[in-house]
Amino acid sequence: MSEKNPKTPLEKKAREWIKERGVTLRDIGELVHYLQSPYQKDLSIEDCIHHVDKVLSKREVQNAVITGLQLDVLAEKRELESPLQETIFFDESLYGIDEIIALSIVNVYGSIGFTNYGYIDKQKPGILGELNEHSDEKCHTFLDDIVGAIAAAASSRLAHSIANVEDLD
Ligand code: MG
Repeated sequence: MSEKNPKTPLEKKAREWIKERGVTLRDIGELVHYLQSPYQKDLSIEDCIHHVDKVLSKREVQNAVITGLQLDVLAEKRELESPLQETIFFDESLYGIDEIIALSIVNVYGSIGFTNYGYIDKQKPGILGELNEHSDEKCHTFLDDIVGAIAAAASSRLAHSIANVEDLD
């Protein structure tokens, strides 16, 4: 189902929220391109965006998005209770639940997603670098991991789809 036509209120909310939090499908598509262009000749951004769109149509992914982004938003509004408020707002490094939620996205397309996720989380290309800069107003503790995980899952999907086409040849 395309971006313009979300199937359920859950999908609609997940897609709207990613956008409202400042991330476009193209931003995530560019991360997929970063991950996969060394392996796929002539890989287009449009192809990458197509796989991001498919990842976003999965219910597990939508649930991870709305859960993580809700916590970021509540932390921004200072509406969580202490110590969770400070932990999330200041992106405390030993918290780790943001990564756990992200792994539920990475899992959707099999184990090569783990490698992609680990790599992109270290390198922080493109939008991930921007999200990682801490500010006093914005909280992206969950968003950065979720965006990285969607890119990793879309990269896995893309790699599997190419392998399947080659199998048919
Ligand atoms: Mg994080």
